[in-house]
Amino acid sequence: MEFLANSLLELVTQTSTNLPPDVRAAMGLAIAQETPGTQSSQALQVMATNIDMAYQDEGAICQDTGMPTFYVHTPAGVSQIAIKKAILEAVTEATRRGKLRPNSVDSLTGKNSGNNLGTETPVFHFEQWEESEIEIRLILKGGGCENMNIQYSAPCDLERVGRADRNLEGVRKCILHAVWQAQGHGCAPGAIGVCIGSDRAHGYELAKQQLLRTLDDVNPNAELARLEAGIMEEANRIGVGSMGFGGKATLIGCKITAANRLPASFFVSVAYDCWAFRRLGVRLEPASGAITKWLYRDPERKVERMTQAEGFPLTGREVVLTAPLTEEAVRALKVGDVVLISGEMFTGRDAVHAYLMKNAPPVDMRGSVLYHCGPVMLKQGDGWAVKAAGPTTSSREEPYEGEVIRRYGVRAVIGKGGMGANTLAALKECGAVYLNAIGGAAQYYARTMEKVLGVHLLELGIPEAMWHLRVNRFPAIVTMDAHGNSLHAEVLEETGKALAEL
Ligand code: SF4
Repeated sequence: MEFLANSLLELVTQTSTNLPPDVRAAMGLAIAQETPGTQSSQALQVMATNIDMAYQDEGAICQDTGMPTFYVHTPAGVSQIAIKKAILEAVTEATRRGKLRPNSVDSLTGKNSGNNLGTETPVFHFEQWEESEIEIRLILKGGGCENMNIQYSAPCDLERVGRADRNLEGVRKCILHAVWQAQGHGCAPGAIGVCIGSDRAHGYELAKQQLLRTLDDVNPNAELARLEAGIMEEANRIGVGSMGFGGKATLIGCKITAANRLPASFFVSVAYDCWAFRRLGVRLEPASGAITKWLYRDPERKVERMTQAEGFPLTGREVVLTAPLTEEAVRALKVGDVVLISGEMFTGRDAVHAYLMKNAPPVDMRGSVLYHCGPVMLKQGDGWAVKAAGPTTSSREEPYEGEVIRRYGVRAVIGKGGMGANTLAALKECGAVYLNAIGGAAQYYARTMEKVLGVHLLELGIPEAMWHLRVNRFPAIVTMDAHGNSLHAEVLEETGKALAEL
């Protein structure tokens, strides 16, 4: 199998850097559907630019390259052991080249393996089949959207939609509730895979496998096809919008399957994937391991650009900020303002927040900008290069952020999806803001980073370390201000009302 290693490396690299045509088409529709000039529309433009940048430079579309999950079909006689070994090597090499972020963390010690290999990572699904070729499909699904997966056990009472019974109407309520609860945390517009029935564990698995379908296919079961179309229409009327900013583009796909269940159980399992919907596949010639065909792609069609203009559409009303920030500058900001930040910022996510609860920060954080981000970084000589650096989901830091702001004088927190009441209270009390960056726009934001000034707590692993960066005109939207206002709370309430009226 002389070509196997190259074929697999190409599969991993392409999946991480080049969105498949069906996802591009769905994103194109979302852009066309959104009201121009809105924050949701601005976010979609940044996502489109980011898709182009990632393809052009073969960089990771999003810095969270997810849990690599392989679905492998082999003809009888092909060694699955050899294929698994080759996949592990390809994953290691893709990580070394910065196409994947080191994402495999020991759940007991918290140690990052550094190469994406570890106990039960990557994830493999092997099956034998009667065809003559090998088929390998890969999904890279990040943590932000994975955390938005949800499972319902009907009958159940759901906020805003009421009782969900054990019938298709109950399933419809569960799915719409799933889309609503995700808000912007999973980087909407998203796509969902759903399984009706099965048991808890397999139901989740089957829901995820629905993400292997193309977004434009039609379910062969007429009843499920109707349900999928209905959900698409209704979910896009709730008003969550891209990044949860409020708007028309909330869902780019809904794929549903049904599996038999136990008489006592009725699960509705939902797998939520973000707009950075990375999924590709290849057919391989068994003797050589050479690629005979790409799945999800038309070889006749060249990759088309998503956008002609580049980046964040500016209006001239943006507020230019230079970090470190003063209290006066921050208190002058209000929800809806677009800011362009230049100067210094620090990254800090889960492990840094846990560290700061017990230890003083390794840097002076007074007036600082704290970016919830786990970047892809590559060592270059004595320094580091930023390869991908979009925001991560902020709600995970909700138990800590208020205290971090109060104790250390942070003036701006950047992330995605918004934060809760405790953080909002601290912003008001101390004169700080929460800024929402565009989730998944990892290439776009990496280009605003002029220099890596240093790194602290590197022992926490590359994504969790505290990176000290100098940025130039980093754009973000004020979604929680120092006056007690939160766009996230508003959108949650408004969309909740719309959901109840469906
Ligand atoms: S686009 Fe958002 S949800 Fe998707 S992997 Fe990236 S950060 Fe996570």
